[in-house]
Amino acid sequence: MSVLTSVSGFPRIGQNRELKKIIEGYWKGANDIDAVRATAKELRAKHWKLQQDAGIDLIPSNDFSYYDQMLDTAILLNVIPQRYQRLGLDEEGTLFAMARGYQGEAGDVTALPMKKWFTTNYHYLVPEVDAATEIKLNSTKAFDEYAEAKALGVDTKPVFIGPYTFLKLARNSEAQELELDKGLVQAVAGVYAQVLAKFAALGAAWAQFDEPYLVLDKEPGDVELFKSLYAKILPARESDGKRVKLLLNTYFGHIADVYETVNLLGFDGVGLDLNEGREENLAAVERFGVGEATTIFAGVVNGRNIWRNNYAVSLGLIDALRQKTANVAVATASSLLHVPFSTEGETGIDADKLKHFAFAVEKLGELKEIATLAGEDEAALKSDAALAANQALFDGTRTPADPAVAKRIADLTDADFTRLPARAERQKLQREALGLPLLPTTTIGSFPQTREIRAERAKLRKGEITKEAYDEFIKAQIDACIRHQEEIGLDVLVHGEFERNDMVEYFGQNLNGFLFTKNAWVQSYGTRCVKPPIVWGDVSRAKPITVEWSAYAQSKTKHVMKGMLTGPVTILNWSWPREDITHEQQTQQLALAIRDEVLDLEAAGIKVIQIDEAALREKLPLRKSDWHVKYLDWAVPAFRLVHSAVKPTTQIHTHMCYSEFNDIIRDIDAMDADVISFEASRGDLVVLDAIHDAHFETEAGPGVYDIHSPRIPSEQEIEDRIYEILKKMDVEKVWINPDCGLKTRGDAETWPSLEHLVAAAKAVRAKL
Ligand code: GLN
Ligand code: ZN
Repeated sequence: MSVLTSVSGFPRIGQNRELKKIIEGYWKGANDIDAVRATAKELRAKHWKLQQDAGIDLIPSNDFSYYDQMLDTAILLNVIPQRYQRLGLDEEGTLFAMARGYQGEAGDVTALPMKKWFTTNYHYLVPEVDAATEIKLNSTKAFDEYAEAKALGVDTKPVFIGPYTFLKLARNSEAQELELDKGLVQAVAGVYAQVLAKFAALGAAWAQFDEPYLVLDKEPGDVELFKSLYAKILPARESDGKRVKLLLNTYFGHIADVYETVNLLGFDGVGLDLNEGREENLAAVERFGVGEATTIFAGVVNGRNIWRNNYAVSLGLIDALRQKTANVAVATASSLLHVPFSTEGETGIDADKLKHFAFAVEKLGELKEIATLAGEDEAALKSDAALAANQALFDGTRTPADPAVAKRIADLTDADFTRLPARAERQKLQREALGLPLLPTTTIGSFPQTREIRAERAKLRKGEITKEAYDEFIKAQIDACIRHQEEIGLDVLVHGEFERNDMVEYFGQNLNGFLFTKNAWVQSYGTRCVKPPIVWGDVSRAKPITVEWSAYAQSKTKHVMKGMLTGPVTILNWSWPREDITHEQQTQQLALAIRDEVLDLEAAGIKVIQIDEAALREKLPLRKSDWHVKYLDWAVPAFRLVHSAVKPTTQIHTHMCYSEFNDIIRDIDAMDADVISFEASRGDLVVLDAIHDAHFETEAGPGVYDIHSPRIPSEQEIEDRIYEILKKMDVEKVWINPDCGLKTRGDAETWPSLEHLVAAAKAVRAKL
């Protein structure tokens, strides 16, 4: 019996980030758009071929994107706000203007807001449907890519973000949820129906609509919405006497609460995530069965981890499904977009460790092997070498536990999670001790990591310069950055984080228990990629990490110098966690390591310490019922463990890269930081209402300009923003800062923007 294999989506940035390089070259004017198109085409061909060679049956197309697949979906549906259309740019020009903002001859517009894609570190652009939007089929991208693959001999399965997920994630021009009137719903469904019919006519065997939003809690009307969309779409599978099969794909959780509805609609395939949401999905299948004409796509190969698949477990899951249906295909649980390309070339990791890893390319092999094993009978399985070799990876322990770490954790008491005195009292003491003006200005930490800085780091790595020479170079960068901040008049300074390649990897490199890759990049947003370190064993601090740099920087200025750390939840969330102990346990180990660093910074004379928890919100479970029990109940205390032992006058800041914490606002307060800065300029400001309504205690700096765009905000714009903030917050509690770190920006836009920021703060202060 042969078992069908399906890949939900494949990484598109390229093994050596070719797509990133060529697009960034285009933005800088170093190459033209034809070069971008050519590279994109080569990458698509290479990725299709790889999957074909691996023996994958359903190979995705239209998973490629220049920037973001949600943006592509908006363009597909002609959801292009007027302000971008008015620029009159060509196709790619419009796309990049929506993605990054545009400032030039054609006009001046900000970018679309950006948000995290479910619980991943991938960011999508939030489509904006305004009153003038006319929904219609507006792009041939998916058809072109399908034809492109077909010409190469690959009959692909085109994939789309489905209409339900699109409508739930899109916003109106006030950044609010859409009002889903019948006209809009029917128009959107109509375009998807048209797309499907066209693929039927083209002779495609399968199409895949991704509906990850189905794994979220349902609000009233959601199920009806889903049904009415697909009632219109499903009949379009037939066209010109041909029929395309439709795979409804879900991931990042379970769909138990709509499984029955989904099942009755009669999709040809239903993709279920059997990693996240395993029990619930299996229980739903068990309870409601599987329609006769439906194949269950068993998402057994994890699209979110880098570890080898446990074949015995996967085969067990497939067996469980087979109790209910003979039609089971083997699939990746989600797109492989969120994992690195290949372990090939990772020579820095010992072979006996590397054998435990599977990146995208290796996962293709796993998929095929699992399908083959799933097609064999029991007797054949018993003697199967691939199965035995896989089982050997999971026998025994991989790495011995560290008894010192275990003891520290066992010895913790409630007092270790409690900072004294209460925050209101601390805030008074700190105001006196730090002597800051109202509306103090600061930045989030990093300053532009120029080509020059990265080149020096590369030289150090290759042994072309000494550590001493490198340190001198970094010191000179810090000196210049401090001088510049003093000149423009910022209140709380930072050293600029020039010594750090990345806010997580840098810490990982100085902690016991981590492993690092050379090339395991994953896309974060647009052309931005991250290279998460790997938690391999128990974590502890090997030696002080940032103390010398911060002390040096403080010695160079009379202003307050903020120390910069990454918090335990973020380090874990932006690393590849172990799977043999819980996330809670790993976070506690990290918290203790960072706590040591906090106390050392304080002892070295650093009075303000920022502990970034940029990724705390990101891993908030998708279902509300899980928020506390599965996450916040340990994540928030872990943060407190990090800073609970500092003096009352030491000011603890934290930073988050999003503003969507209106419904966990009390948990944010419970982290007990003195100050929080967060992203707020690219999204809506409902969080300010929440801050207001909850009597939020933590002082806060809602970002006053968007650093993800190269655009320079005017002083007036920032002043207006500050007044908006002051409508909702007590002036005593407001900080003025950009919305995130500046490392991805250039000096050319950074310094003028900050000058405007300081001038705006001063202007408002003068009128108070
Ligand atoms: N301190 C970090 C920086 O400024 C924070 C980055 C982040 O929030 N992602 O780069
Ligand atoms: Zn940030």
